[in-house]
Amino acid sequence: MSSPQIFTFLGRAGSGKGTQAELLVKEFGFIYVGSGQMLRDLKNMDSFSGRKADRVMKEGKLVPTTLIFQQWINRLEDIKNKENKNFKGIVFDGSPRMIGEAELLRQALEWYEWEENARALLIDISREEAFNRLTKRRNCRECGQLIPYVGRYKTLEKCDKCGGELITRADDTPEAINLRLDLFEKEVAPVIDFYQKEGKLIKINGEQSIEDVYKEILEKIKTY
Ligand SMILES: [Zn+2]
Repeated sequence: MSSPQIFTFLGRAGSGKGTQAELLVKEFGFIYVGSGQMLRDLKNMDSFSGRKADRVMKEGKLVPTTLIFQQWINRLEDIKNKENKNFKGIVFDGSPRMIGEAELLRQALEWYEWEENARALLIDISREEAFNRLTKRRNCRECGQLIPYVGRYKTLEKCDKCGGELITRADDTPEAINLRLDLFEKEVAPVIDFYQKEGKLIKINGEQSIEDVYKEILEKIKTY
């Protein structure tokens, strides 16, 4: 691959996009930019916005785009200033959450002169599959390992790491899951269209084993 490469992961909750992003980062040495970490950094700041973000997130609401974007810019500026010949690229996980953010992210990537090799990877699973995965995934009672409802893990009877008992996660009610999936149709579907129109969308079948999803990603990013 010619460098630097920029990948943005998209997909419904439960698609396993975070796992795939990590695999890609590990193999190629990309810099990982996860919105989860950025939100944690934001709410830990001893400032008006830090305290307010903490409160808003506890209420289950979204932190506004302006603040998210400020985090991105700070991070991208930092990466740019340290850029050298070993820089392979960036993997974005968990953003953009809506069309306005996709447009801002493109502007930022243009500004930092990384737009040329920017692509979006959609880990595609149906709404029904997402719902099943989110309601049927389990945790190990002993070590806490998350057992996704996918491939061979579906029939796992005990934790494959410690042999502990597997329990269903209590934090995901069907109502909450449906709300998250509604938000995807409403806000993220236009983001997918946006990348499609730009000719930057790579669609991956997410309804296969983690290994096979990753294999498909590797094939498609090589031949792009
Ligand atoms: Zn365990």
